[in-house]
Parts: sequence; structure tokens; C-alpha cells
Amino acid sequence: MSGISRDRAVILRSFDYSESSIIAAALTKRHGKISLLAKGARKPGSQFYGSLRTGNTAEILFYEKEQRSLQLLKEIGGIHAFDPKSGCLENICIFQAGLEVVDRAVVDAGTDGGMFDLLEEFILSLDRCVDPWTLFFALEARMLDLGGVFPAIDECSKCKKGLAGSGITINPSSGYVTCVGCGEGGISLSCRSSELLREMIEGGPGDMTETKLDREIRQEIGRVLHRLFTFHIEGYRLPNALKILKGVE
Ligand SMILES: [Zn+2]
Repeated sequence: MSGISRDRAVILRSFDYSESSIIAAALTKRHGKISLLAKGARKPGSQFYGSLRTGNTAEILFYEKEQRSLQLLKEIGGIHAFDPKSGCLENICIFQAGLEVVDRAVVDAGTDGGMFDLLEEFILSLDRCVDPWTLFFALEARMLDLGGVFPAIDECSKCKKGLAGSGITINPSSGYVTCVGCGEGGISLSCRSSELLREMIEGGPGDMTETKLDREIRQEIGRVLHRLFTFHIEGYRLPNALKILKGVE
């Protein structure tokens, strides 16, 4: 099947192609993750000029061919460019890290738009949040949940005790979640960290803009999400943008 398709897209990554063109990897709402060829996009007079920067959100029209891995971009408009709070390196790095995680982890986003909506919510919430780390972790937790691999943290998988209001132990490889008493191996999470993870799964980045994480909580949640990603997502590694932040902290 082929024809002209309209969709909404976030540019995950783009690179120069030939003398004048650009190829971009984009996450779309209805077509999953696609590659777009924008002919002439490097020429200043082109309608595509400057529109395919990493992190831009836009309405796109493209010639869709199912059997082709590279789709030809026809028009682009309604561009929203991420505009970080002036000079905030942390926001910029977290923004990049979010795009990197999605780009690496999402092979085929499916066509229900869930992944796209999540990424767009993350991007739009970044500029009005008190702590970008909270949004980044909410993005990661919801991604795992959408993929069906975030462990259920409501009750202990051994003694069946409810886990609300207490610390928990998560085993990233088996997916077993236990209370502190039953815990054997795995990563321990404090009561506060497990509560926050629950909020992140139930809400999403947009509901977490007022939540600031102190250093200890950030490390706890970051560690468990990193382990879950490493175990479940093939080819996952720590985003480069986070390594930059670690270097400056
Ligand atoms: Zn138990």
C-alpha cells in the first residue's frame, strides 16, 4: 500500500545525507517509529530547513510505502521546538536523555499512539517542572509499564501482604517484588521511593512536575529503573546525555 499520510511526529535523531538532504528518525503517533528522508533540507531556502532538529515536534505529510524502510517527507508544519529554561544544562541533558532512551528502547512503537503521547507529555512538561529527574524517571517507568515489564508493586509476591506504605525489594530479572521481611536478593527501595514509583506509573510525567527528588531517592529510583531497562531492553545503555551530567555533578 502506498499513499500520502499525515501524522504527528517527534524527531528523535537526524543526520546529514548526501550533499543537501537530511534523514531523521521520528516517533509518530499513528505510524510508530519511522525514518524520514527530507530532500534538500540542508539548503537555507528549503521548506524543511531547520525543521528536523532533534526534539522538534511537528505535523508531517509523507509518501508512505509499507515495504520501504525510508519514507519520503512531503511537508512539515506546526513545529514546536523545545526551549529550555535559559541556560539550564540539567534540563537540556535530561531532554536529550529522554529522546535517547526512547530511540534506543523503541524498535516498533506500535500504532496506538501510547508511546508518542508519553514522549510528548515528557517534552511539554519539562519547561514547567521543579525537577527534570522526576520527569525522566516517570518517562522510563511508564515506558516499562507500556511494554508490560514493570513489576506489580502492590503486594508481596511471597506473603501477599499489601505493600502500600512500606519499603519493598525488587528483583529486576525475575520481576518478583517482596516486602522487606520476605526480601531475598534484589534491589531495596525505601517507602518514599516505592510510593513515588507508584505515582509515576499511575500518572505520568505531566503529573509529576511539582515533585522534587532528594539525592538519595534519585539514586534509589535511578538504580532500579536502570537495572530494569538493562535486563528487559536489548541494546540499552546509559544515555550519553546523562554521562555529561554525571561529569559536572
Ligand atoms: Zn512478604
